Parts: sequence; structure tokens; C-alpha cells
Amino acid sequence: MHYSGSCHCGAITYQFESEEFAAGLRCNCSMCRKKGALMSAFTIPVDALALDVKDDALATYTFNSHQVKHHFCNVCGIYTFHKSKVTGGYRLNLGCIDNLDTDNLPFTVFNGANLPSITES
Ligand SMILES: [Zn+2]
Repeated sequence: MHYSGSCHCGAITYQFESEEFAAGLRCNCSMCRKKGALMSAFTIPVDALALDVKDDALATYTFNSHQVKHHFCNVCGIYTFHKSKVTGGYRLNLGCIDNLDTDNLPFTVFNGANLPSITES
């Protein structure tokens, strides 16, 4: 499937090819509880994401182990994707992907809250 996506203001846009998103992932760690995003159940290889960023809008937040790079738009504040510590790929905010009906996707919950040494997916 060919997908495109963006943050809210459009400073960050991207395109990629992947298998279809048939399910999502939520996480109950301290950050994801506040973020509330439905994420991709699988990650995309970093070099598979054709990213177009205007005006250095792509910001990065880290916490705890600081090994997971949580990326967001520094203009509109939207979380777009993060770089997974486990796979090294990008886990995507499915809400940022064009024409994807996230309201009807089943999802699993990653128990990040109870993995003290990992806490982030
Ligand atoms: Zn933005």
C-alpha cells in the first residue's frame, strides 16, 4: 500500500510503502497515556519513510532511557512518529496518515507502564 501522512499544520509530511494497517497499538506508559495516540502495530524502516520537513519543524523528545526518539512538530505540536528502541524503525501515529479510518481499527495495548527498564516501545 502507498501511504501519505502529515502533522496538523503540514510542516512535516511523508510518504511510504507498507503492508496495510489492519490493527493498531496503544501503550500505557507515562507518556503514551497523556498522548493518547493510536500507533502502528509494526514499525517502518527509517529509510522507507520519505520525509519532507519544512523549517526544521521536526523536534525530538526523550525521557527515561533516552533511547527512544519521540518526534513531533514544533509548530503544531502533533506527535508524528517515534524511533523504536526495539526495532530501530519508526512507529507511526496512525492519526497522521491520510485516508486511514482509525476509528474502526482493532488494537492491542503494549504494557509499557510495567516494564521499568524499557517503558517505551
Ligand atoms: Zn505541524
